[in-house]
Amino acid sequence: MSELSFAELGLDPVVLEAVASVGYETPSPIQAQSIPALLAGNHLLGVAQTGTGKTAAFALPLLSRIDASIAEPQILVLAPTRELAIQVAEAFTTYASKFRDFHVLPIYGGQDFSPQIRGLKRGAQVIVGTPGRLLDHLRKGTLRLNNLQALVLDEADEMLRMGFIDDVETILSKTPENCQRALFSATMPPQIKKVAQTYLSNATEVRIESESRTVERIAQFVLPVYAERKLDALTRILEVEPFDGAIIFVRTKAETTVLAEKLSARGHAVAPLNGDLNQRQREQTVEELKRGKRDIIIATDVAARGLDVPRITHVINYDVPYDPEAYIHRVGRTGRAGRSGKAILLVTPRERSWLRTLERATNSPMEPYELPSPAELQKMRVQQFEEQLMSFADDPRLGKAIALLDDIAERNDMDMAMVAGTLACWVEASQPDSLPLQAPEALPEVSSKPRRDRNGPPKGKKNFRKGPPGKNARKGGKPGGFAKGGKGRPGGKPSGKGPKRG
Ligand code: ADP
Ligand code: MG
Repeated sequence: MSELSFAELGLDPVVLEAVASVGYETPSPIQAQSIPALLAGNHLLGVAQTGTGKTAAFALPLLSRIDASIAEPQILVLAPTRELAIQVAEAFTTYASKFRDFHVLPIYGGQDFSPQIRGLKRGAQVIVGTPGRLLDHLRKGTLRLNNLQALVLDEADEMLRMGFIDDVETILSKTPENCQRALFSATMPPQIKKVAQTYLSNATEVRIESESRTVERIAQFVLPVYAERKLDALTRILEVEPFDGAIIFVRTKAETTVLAEKLSARGHAVAPLNGDLNQRQREQTVEELKRGKRDIIIATDVAARGLDVPRITHVINYDVPYDPEAYIHRVGRTGRAGRSGKAILLVTPRERSWLRTLERATNSPMEPYELPSPAELQKMRVQQFEEQLMSFADDPRLGKAIALLDDIAERNDMDMAMVAGTLACWVEASQPDSLPLQAPEALPEVSSKPRRDRNGPPKGKKNFRKGPPGKNARKGGKPGGFAKGGKGRPGGKPSGKGPKRG
């Protein structure tokens, strides 16, 4: 962290008072470098990942420079999504909480125009919005930028990725010449560089060490798997990997809940994390992961932005990311605070080209992930079951239980082994898959040759190097065709959270 305190950076006392009440101790590196430059009135180009404290890096100095008594848009922030706009607006509200009659207005698509127009009429010093809707208001004349002092492009690369770059440029061209500008981005693709050159000439540049470096502490693995076998592969990974906390990335919000339900049914302490949850719910989910109340989170890229939970030992990319930056961000959720981490990527045959792309982006090779063989898995399950069973060997009720069963055995002419077996069947009937009665089926190995059939598993047996000849080929079309007992028994984690005791 920086050597100077917030007070020493020269912020307005009213802003400082707000910072003190939020409880920030020292400026983060990007704050320490950006605040003086913005206070001096310079344009600023900031390259830094999520979670580095960019909002305060621009909000605190810009708030320090405006005349808070003028109730007109003076600071305009462009954000890529409604969520981020709300988040930044909330942060601004906090940092401006000690000003009187001060208003921060979030403006985004998908919400009625009328409350936004009301808010604009009432007068707001800070507007935070998504490009499309801001442009609508500019065209309608409901938003006027005559008095604009500063413009911020937050997460510029994300806006580019979402196709907003033309809207952003249009808005930029409508802002006053002398308006101070700041652009923040995690990466600097050529189009963003061009925007910076055009609209932020002579900007002060601040770069915070890219997160791609932390990838070095993360062991990266790849597992080729047929799309319809991904869930089977995932449950086996979770069964054998000694994870503490894990985050599993999927592409859609819907998938987060679907997968969370499926893993929950298999006994994992899991929760979804997606943009449909409100801020408070998301914070609560993250808190539960931190405290160990949950071990697994199923997340989308956006919902997991900046997530910082040191106990995440594993990142599993259940769905491939949209681009290398997203991948780097995802795997950077592990290996926090100098620890090491493990990332496992599932790729389906049609996605295999991703492998090279990601290896190039991270500048490190991915090792093939070895799923345990059915025999190994079975051995492990038997061992776990045995441990679980033995944990009851000194149960205080044991004496009474033996007496009861002895009596039953004698009356029914059974020996104790038969009674034990019968009892075990009872356990299995009431809690299916608690007993490792049968070895799981081998997952079909993905052939290294590209296939023409892109979705279903291949028909020919040549693609199944491991399974018994012919057998898999016939079963191939059955989705999730785990052999009996293979559906991840509840709590099948090696950490000893064994089968639930019914
Ligand atoms: P970014 O925009 O870079 O992703 P944010 O501005 O959203 O980061 O900040 C991430 C988190 O860090 C927020 O919860 C914020 O309140 C907190 N934060 C920001 N600056 C500081 C600081 N100097 N000290 C402690 N926490 C901070
Ligand atoms: Mg941010």
